[in-house]
Amino acid sequence: MNDVQHVMVVGAGQMGSGIAQVFAQSGFNVYLHDKNKDALNKGMETIEKFLNRSVKKERITEQGKEDTLNNLTRSTDIQDAASCDLVIEAAVENVDIKKTIFKELATYKQEHTILATNTSSISITEIAAVTNRPDQVIGMHFMNPVPVMKLVEIIRGLQTSDETYQTIEELTNKINKTAVEVNDSPGFAANRILMPMINEAIYAVYEGVSSPEDVDTVMKLGMNHPMGPLTLADFIGLDTCLYIMEVLHEGFSDSKYRPCPLLRQYVKAGWLGKKSGRGFYVYE
Ligand code: NAD
Repeated sequence: MNDVQHVMVVGAGQMGSGIAQVFAQSGFNVYLHDKNKDALNKGMETIEKFLNRSVKKERITEQGKEDTLNNLTRSTDIQDAASCDLVIEAAVENVDIKKTIFKELATYKQEHTILATNTSSISITEIAAVTNRPDQVIGMHFMNPVPVMKLVEIIRGLQTSDETYQTIEELTNKINKTAVEVNDSPGFAANRILMPMINEAIYAVYEGVSSPEDVDTVMKLGMNHPMGPLTLADFIGLDTCLYIMEVLHEGFSDSKYRPCPLLRQYVKAGWLGKKSGRGFYVYE
């Protein structure tokens, strides 16, 4: 069994930085990699800010913060993957970009290295097929914000081996998360259920049924959701939401998954939610 000690996270955005943080906090040596230096610096800043807040709230000690930061190394060279036992890809939700990254990783990785993807919806089987070791490719779908949310969907591709699955399940427990086993199907379990609800909430606004604020209030106070669907969509990123709806629509060839035109329009306008400063709400 692969005794994972060295981990690389590819993509230092909102998910990648969170994933790198939880592994570093659990004592693993972590490369946080991004092809964009500014994104990498921003990712590291996000981690530092989170840790500073945790020290203030007395959830961790100053020493704990320093230890976590010492376990993290910045990387702009994907070849650093050569010294890792596990690589978790968390770059943008785009199948062509992910395939290019996996092709490259497959050439640098060691014999035993497992390649995981944090994709929200793209087929693990399809990503695995561009490597020469599809048995060592698996989905590890973390939830946002990663340091807070307990769930990791672990997705078996068609050729994922039992050994790869077991290694990743054990590792998920080691980083204090709860694993749920899911088979490779569009949207897996989480987004197959969540995204159509978000898309329907957007339709309710598009068709003038209610305002974004009121739709969110209905779901918070009426259904006891901690956050309304449009606030959540802004938080996830509207580009990511649209991409997932496209995957469901295409994957099931079923019109019930058609993305709402208003979602398309917002993404075209660059209104991507919290990360761009505007989505269904405006962020300072
Ligand atoms: P993001 O836009 O915040 O970050 C993506 C990062 O990837 C950027 O920093 C970008 O510079 C980097 N990147 C792009 N191409 C790269 C490449 N070739 N090599 C290295 N780095 C590259 O996106 P995010 O919200 O963190 O999402 C990342 C992944 O996680 C996506 O697959 C998404 O579907 C998935 N995901 C997102 C959420 C969510 O709530 N946002 C939840 C679960 C899973």
